[in-house]
Amino acid sequence: MGGGLAGTATALALARAGFDTVLVAPDAPADRRSTALIGRSVAFLSDLGIFEALGSKAEPLAVMRLIDDTRRLLRAPTVEFRASEIGLSAFGYNVLNSDLLAALKAQAADAPQLERRDTAARSYRIEGERAVVELADGGSLAVDLVVAADGRRSPMREAAGIGLREWSYPQSAIVLNFGHRIDHRSISTEFHTRSGPFTQVPLPGRHSSLVWVEEPKLAELYAELAPEKLSRMIEDRMQSILGEVTV
Ligand SMILES: Cc1cc2nc3c(=O)[nH]c(=O)nc-3n(C[C@H](O)[C@H](O)[C@H](O)COP(=O)(O)OP(=O)(O)OC[C@H]3O[C@@H](n4cnc5c(N)ncnc54)[C@H](O)[C@@H]3O)c2cc1C
Repeated sequence: MGGGLAGTATALALARAGFDTVLVAPDAPADRRSTALIGRSVAFLSDLGIFEALGSKAEPLAVMRLIDDTRRLLRAPTVEFRASEIGLSAFGYNVLNSDLLAALKAQAADAPQLERRDTAARSYRIEGERAVVELADGGSLAVDLVVAADGRRSPMREAAGIGLREWSYPQSAIVLNFGHRIDHRSISTEFHTRSGPFTQVPLPGRHSSLVWVEEPKLAELYAELAPEKLSRMIEDRMQSILGEVTV
């Protein structure tokens, strides 16, 4: 249940392993995040032929650089970890979620034992040895296994009676992708600031993604800034190491 990265990848893997599989996936808004794929995730996607299909859309993370930007009197020195030091060409690969999902969907469309239903799952109940899933289009499915990959507000989790505990932190994350004038050379730079990490992760070409952790009030304010102002602010925060920034 769920046509995001987790649901589509699971459905494809199950169908390829020979199980009759139904992917219940309503149309969802475009996912504009990116994902840093590390180790086992890369191996899993390679087994499905997805990683190879991504080709140059997956940017290697060859160097991780950490900068103490706390402005304290005594600061930690900048450190760089190189994948080559442990015999790897990259620690992982950064890819746009939309590109990864498109590659998964393309392979899912050709998988013989995989049927897609463009509707939402409402709930499920156990009947004898099987689970019966109620669908929003009025239909139902009797299945041996339900995989709940329906996001953080998972109706399937609720139907299973699994509760959750929620708490919040005095932090918000601004997440965006941006262009820059200078090559990133496959380096990810993490600035450790007083309000939290400000992390640039390289994407293909002169593009990077950013996860910028801030106090909630400031994050709201920055998210409302005109793109030119925000671009200048990001360039300043990055100490211009990637030159002019365009959000
Ligand atoms: C800023 C940020 C950066 C991140 N970076 C990384 C990273 O670098 N590496 C990493 O591994 N992870 C990262 N993550 C986490 C990762 O993005 C998520 O864990 C992952 O995308 C979740 O995928 P998903 O398929 O489980 O859920 P979602 O992407 O939320 O998809 C859920 C799907 O279920 C569907 N759905 C909802 N309700 C129903 C229903 N009733 N029936 C059927 N379908 C339903 C929705 O339409 C949606 O398509 C990051 C997350 C954030 C917020």
